[in-house]
Amino acid sequence: MKAADILISEVGPRDGLQSVAATMPTADKLRWIDALHAAGVREIEVASFVPARLLPQMADAAEVVRHAITLPGLTVMALVPNRRGAQAALEAGVHKLTMPVSASAAHSLANVRKTREEMVDEVRAIAELRRELAPHIRLEAGISTAFGCTMQGDVPEDEVIWLAALCVEAGADEAGLSDTVGYANPAQVRRLFRRLRAELGDRAGAAHMHNTRGLGLANCLAAYEEGVRTFDASLGGLGGCPYAPGASGNVVTEDLVFMLEAMGVRTGIDLQRLMAARAPLIAGLPGEAVYGMTPEAGLPKGFVQGHYAHV
Ligand code: ZN
Repeated sequence: MKAADILISEVGPRDGLQSVAATMPTADKLRWIDALHAAGVREIEVASFVPARLLPQMADAAEVVRHAITLPGLTVMALVPNRRGAQAALEAGVHKLTMPVSASAAHSLANVRKTREEMVDEVRAIAELRRELAPHIRLEAGISTAFGCTMQGDVPEDEVIWLAALCVEAGADEAGLSDTVGYANPAQVRRLFRRLRAELGDRAGAAHMHNTRGLGLANCLAAYEEGVRTFDASLGGLGGCPYAPGASGNVVTEDLVFMLEAMGVRTGIDLQRLMAARAPLIAGLPGEAVYGMTPEAGLPKGFVQGHYAHV
């Protein structure tokens, strides 16, 4: 595998699958994850450890993790909302935990019925559990609604940075920023990631951008130019509240990889194989909308991946 300049963290099997009504059969999930890995994807958020009665799409989380950890070189990540979920994820053998913490006070109360400070306490509890059970496992806090919130509207930037810093103090290895509802614009992305890096240094984490208003790639580019080197994206743009017709929720992995590779930024991912990984996704979720401009248009004439003029 060639070296990569950045890390694409594929979130489709978690963020995508938990946002659609249908449940993808386990065998299809495993085929999809295998195809992503074969394309060179080296980090996948494969599941969410939540009670199956809340999210039946994730009932097979442990089984999916146990398969994914057999794939060489793959960092297997799972979302955990609390200590109990973290324990189950660690027992299944994940390499990395991600914990969502909402920067919007209103969203936090409505979504998890906890204040933001109470969620920081959960981060601390998970960090302590990790120290006891599996100190080599990484813990990331994903600051959701960092760029605005459908309930509250504006989310003050000072509160986003304050919360990210609290999560790191509580034991998270890194804190990233999520545009959960697709409100972000590139100037805001630059400002917030610059502040995050100033506050946290190399503990500033990933950019999780949505394409709800068509700004997903522009926001990723803005984050890249501020030094962000890990990007969440979802194959086929699956998931992430796509309430604007024709626009996906999550940033489309295929389009993001095309943009970066065309710029000469090495992703480690083979575009043709990445597009081939749409087949098991579509097969496992028949009838579900799958997005992506690059897969529809095809690669430009004469485009050869791996010709990096500027490196
Ligand atoms: Zn998302």
